[in-house]
Amino acid sequence: MTAPFLTVVDLRLIEQQLNKILKAKLTSNDQKIVAAVRELAITELRERLTHVDEDIIKEVETIEDTIGAELFFQSLKSYTIPFKSISEQGLQKLFKKDKKLKLPKLETIDWQAISYLSWLDKGTNRQYIVLEKEGEYTALRGVVDAHNPIKGVCSICNQHSVVHLFTATVKGNGDNYTSYSNYICNDSQLCNQRVSDYDKLQEFVARNLI
Ligand SMILES: [Zn+2]
Repeated sequence: MTAPFLTVVDLRLIEQQLNKILKAKLTSNDQKIVAAVRELAITELRERLTHVDEDIIKEVETIEDTIGAELFFQSLKSYTIPFKSISEQGLQKLFKKDKKLKLPKLETIDWQAISYLSWLDKGTNRQYIVLEKEGEYTALRGVVDAHNPIKGVCSICNQHSVVHLFTATVKGNGDNYTSYSNYICNDSQLCNQRVSDYDKLQEFVARNLI
């Protein structure tokens, strides 16, 4: 069996491009428009998924409806690299300084559906974000203004969304601290469904590392 080669981010990108094609088919009677949308979507997939087998991209071209799309995504499951699950102890190690760290309900997480792990401690207004790559975890923590969500563009998924301000304080040289604020999706589950560019996610994390 082939080793899994699709990240959750890759899946989201395929899903987004496929949805563009299906939407065009539903809303336009002009076959030329549908063909043009299809071509743009497929070109984008080819450019961004250079590590993905051409057969998969060709299959996207043949999908005609949501049922077809559903079956296709089912078939991709065995090729998907999940977020490597982490234990409560593992999380505690990542956030050593938080003595009373509030943990997320790990048993409810679908590791095949997330590109990053995030949870909020409503008591302290702290939001925790964890990224995983090849078994290595990167952690960051910020203070959020979750009670005042506004409409804006999320710095993680780069889409228009309901967002809140996430402020991370980063230690610089010596005793200097700098705070960075970014708007991110108020709903991290929804955000995870939209992250289709891993570089943007990594850039966000790099800017806010503790
Ligand atoms: Zn987002």
